[in-house]
Amino acid sequence: MKIGMFPMSGIRVCDQELLRLGLTLPGFVERSKTIASLPSLGLLTLAGMTPSRHQIEYVEVPDLGQMESLPKDIDLAAISSFSAQIDEAYDLAHWYRSKGIPVVIGGSHATAEPGEASQHCDAVAVGEGECSWLQVLEDAEKGCLQRVYRPEASGFDLAQAPMPAYELLDISKYNRLTIQTSRGCPHHCEFCASSVVLTGKYKQKPIAKVLDEINRILAIWKHPFIEFADDNSFVDRAYWRELLPQLRGKGLKWFAETDLSVADDPELLHLMRETGCAQVLIGFESPVEEGLSGLELHGDWKHRMFPRYQEAIRTIQSHGITVNGCFVIGLDGHSTAIFDQVVDFVRETELYEVQATLLTPFPGTPLYARLEREQRLLEPRNWKKCTLFDINFKPAQMSVGELHDGFKRLVVRLYSDEFTKWRRSRFKDALRVRKDRR
Ligand code: SF4
Repeated sequence: MKIGMFPMSGIRVCDQELLRLGLTLPGFVERSKTIASLPSLGLLTLAGMTPSRHQIEYVEVPDLGQMESLPKDIDLAAISSFSAQIDEAYDLAHWYRSKGIPVVIGGSHATAEPGEASQHCDAVAVGEGECSWLQVLEDAEKGCLQRVYRPEASGFDLAQAPMPAYELLDISKYNRLTIQTSRGCPHHCEFCASSVVLTGKYKQKPIAKVLDEINRILAIWKHPFIEFADDNSFVDRAYWRELLPQLRGKGLKWFAETDLSVADDPELLHLMRETGCAQVLIGFESPVEEGLSGLELHGDWKHRMFPRYQEAIRTIQSHGITVNGCFVIGLDGHSTAIFDQVVDFVRETELYEVQATLLTPFPGTPLYARLEREQRLLEPRNWKKCTLFDINFKPAQMSVGELHDGFKRLVVRLYSDEFTKWRRSRFKDALRVRKDRR
């Protein structure tokens, strides 16, 4: 068969005012832009496990205006999409089906809403795609696709992880490539729509496989920038203490997402910097204690860690690794004071990079279920609003208008040229002072 793989990428923002701001403030939506420009590791991984008798074409679909240029000589279309673009993914599915080409849709949205997705395609792959892909191919060849493919309860064993088919990419179009070392996260935040939706438990890929993937990337890109596409990379620090020394001398630059516990381990931070770690992204979620209590389903880890937030940022940045601190605005503990509180926190901690997004009820999350129960969803099932920059819930301590206007003002302050340059220069100055002292 000839298989077309279509990741739906691109940024979506419904709020026109914020969209305009995004165009004028370079730092705003920066992380979203980076994510949108990453290749789809999920589809590349499925491509990597596809038997060689099949042919694969990997085509990014930034917008459906270009639909007519998409390949039509395929036997199966595989589509993955974020919630915000799911309507466009469905349009693409209808377009292929109208040409008699069967369509399979997978990913976190389809996993949360398999009933909805199955109305728009021939088959839905729920959960981790590796669990059902070979069966999907076999059934597609026989012309008897099932409506829904569900993974076994045990999920996919990362010891069996196939090599992603990086060779399908035109490398000149990307500024980062992704490697996954783990799936899941022990914290289970109420709003989390990451791989926690796909897999209930934290699991890791064997180090030898990760090294193979790095070497494969090095074969096509001499000095790559690698994004470790984990939800929480350094949960198992012993794993990274074993992996990182093997990255010495490879000329990598890399990025990872983590919780702040990595700040407890100076030896690991040193190793990270030595092997090319440029930045870690940390979800602080709230710059004040009030938003943190009850944020996780089990335990209150971030709430307990709150007194250590500032010190952790300083420790990590003192190792020459920039911190991208993420804040979710509109948590139930947030009042209208939150906008100033974010700016004050960023100024005090001299965070290099900051990402402020609005609380977003993604499908399938405990947050969505709670807000639905509390009748606080503004437009239930309007997935277009799942952009992180659009409001689709009634905040607990302010009006929708106050959240909207306050967020807009916050974005203007956080991402002004002046504040951005100040944060970056503070990081560089602090590093220079430390060097001079040595
Ligand atoms: S810490 Fe981050 S990755 Fe982990 S559950 Fe919370 S939001 Fe998800």
